[in-house]
Amino acid sequence: MLTLYCFQFFIFSICVHIFTVFTYLVYYSDFMSTKYFQEIQPEYDYIIVGSGTAGSIIAHRLATETNYTFIVVEAGSRSHAFLEAPVLGPFFHGSILDWQYETVPQEHACFAMKNNKCKLAQGKIIGGSSKLNNMIHIRDAVA
Ligand SMILES: Cc1cc2nc3c(=O)[nH]c(=O)nc-3n(C[C@H](O)[C@H](O)[C@H](O)COP(=O)(O)OP(=O)(O)OC[C@H]3O[C@@H](n4cnc5c(N)ncnc54)[C@H](O)[C@@H]3O)c2cc1C
Repeated sequence: MLTLYCFQFFIFSICVHIFTVFTYLVYYSDFMSTKYFQEIQPEYDYIIVGSGTAGSIIAHRLATETNYTFIVVEAGSRSHAFLEAPVLGPFFHGSILDWQYETVPQEHACFAMKNNKCKLAQGKIIGGSSKLNNMIHIRDAVA
């Protein structure tokens, strides 16, 4: 039984490493292949910083409902079709597609974490944190 567990752990570790290498490839190949910088105009009506949940919606509305010019500036990379499955979102936590923020050492919390520092995932990718989240939809009941 122990051998089976070790084998499963070994296979899981290999899969995690392959996934990690793949995210690095996606991230850096995007920066090297992008041609957006050549298309920058001298001025815009609006500059949208971050193409996360909010930035993407604002850009979409400006593009479809107005004639304003705008540019979206995103620190992260584009995604890859293979990484679009929502079930993979949690695997991005702590990866190069995450800003990898963490709290300061906590006196009364984060006891299970190294140095009592909790991780605060935030997407560094086109789509922002929506690429890392759990897609839980909560609708407030309004009386
Ligand atoms: C782990 C996790 C699980 C979640 N689960 C759910 C859920 O189940 N249901 C739900 O409704 N919500 C969930 N959320 C919350 C939801 O995803 C976020 O509230 C929402 O995506 C935030 O949108 P935003 O546009 O404010 O920021 P983000 O989507 O984080 O976008 C910010 C963008 O700005 C970019 N950026 C930041 N600084 C710079 C800079 N200096 N220059 C250029 N670009 C920059 C970032 O790279 C990022 O792409 C979850 C969040 C997390 C982290």
